[in-house]
Amino acid sequence: MHDIQTFLSKLQSSIDEVSVLHAYKKLQAGSLLIDIREKDEVSGGSPAGAIRIPKGMLEMKIGQVATDPAQEVYLLCASGKRSLVAAFCLQQMGYENVYSVEGGFGEWKNRALPFEMPRTLKEADYERYKRHLLIPELGEAGQIKLLSSRVLVVGAGGIGSPVALYLAAAGIGTIGLIDDDIVDRSNLQRQILHTEQSVGSPKVDSAKQRLSALNPAIRIVPIQTRLDADNIETILQDYDLVLDGTDNFTTRYLINDACVKLGKPNVHGSVFRFEGQVSTFWPASGKGNAPCYRCVYPTPPPAELAPSCAEAGVLGVLPGLVGVICATEAIKILAGFGNLLTGKLLCINAATWSFDTYEIDQEPSCPYCGCTDPAHYPPYAHFEQSCSM
Ligand SMILES: [Zn+2]
Repeated sequence: MHDIQTFLSKLQSSIDEVSVLHAYKKLQAGSLLIDIREKDEVSGGSPAGAIRIPKGMLEMKIGQVATDPAQEVYLLCASGKRSLVAAFCLQQMGYENVYSVEGGFGEWKNRALPFEMPRTLKEADYERYKRHLLIPELGEAGQIKLLSSRVLVVGAGGIGSPVALYLAAAGIGTIGLIDDDIVDRSNLQRQILHTEQSVGSPKVDSAKQRLSALNPAIRIVPIQTRLDADNIETILQDYDLVLDGTDNFTTRYLINDACVKLGKPNVHGSVFRFEGQVSTFWPASGKGNAPCYRCVYPTPPPAELAPSCAEAGVLGVLPGLVGVICATEAIKILAGFGNLLTGKLLCINAATWSFDTYEIDQEPSCPYCGCTDPAHYPPYAHFEQSCSM
């Protein structure tokens, strides 16, 4: 059989074809619609909610999306010809309910059915993120999620430095960095974003320069200010996730209170001499009984018991260790894989090499994550207030 038309006519007699409207209704009802066109075709639009697997990879990847051979699978190409051939292959593989969508995406658009412009990786991204793309749990879909993500790193210091470097390297699309401080020579022992040359310059400027040199394709937003009760919601609402690398309780409580109110994940890292702590405070995660920071630490400790790094000292490498764990956690949350530190507190001691994870629960009486009426959410503490607490 050398004639494609004869071949397609033969396939039409053995493959069930359905209209785009029928396929759309099935997709709405939860059935699997696979857009089998090539990447450059898909980038011009693809049915919203469709899975995208180019025809050349369909047989290899179908098992990942359709585990049950009795499952209904709808295949869509540009005009309805390639989907016939693809449906034939899936039938040969044992899929019993495969359908080809008549008229393909051309007809889908003619009928004004909803479609989206899916984000795809650029040529340079395939090279840069190759080692991510090789991990099945991350892959192209995960990398696209990272590139579409927006993370706010609070503090461009000891924890914020490795966090920002690894998030930039991982291809987080937008990284906001907030810090009002200037680089001091004593910072360089641990704050690896900055160099001798940046002593005396704003930390966010030094950070932007370093991160942009590492990954020029992502957006770095330097915010040279201090988070306070008045600006926190405006700043946070532009981001999907907040990474708290601050070294003072005032800002920690403020970040917690705003994150709980806005439902954003708060990845928290802190250090003290040889000890570090990491957790994700995210009551809105829907994962078990995940508490907020206030559930675990209802009130700030007295000032004399809560010295900052500047006062207490810290082993320079420790914020690096804690920051790398924080960055790992952020990437897992954004790409959607693995077990998280929600409801868990990871405590590290670099002197004794202990890594202990403790279960932490939501406190039913917590006025923040326990608040059911947004109109009565506790007001944010102002700087002077929380200092005097
Ligand atoms: Zn709470």
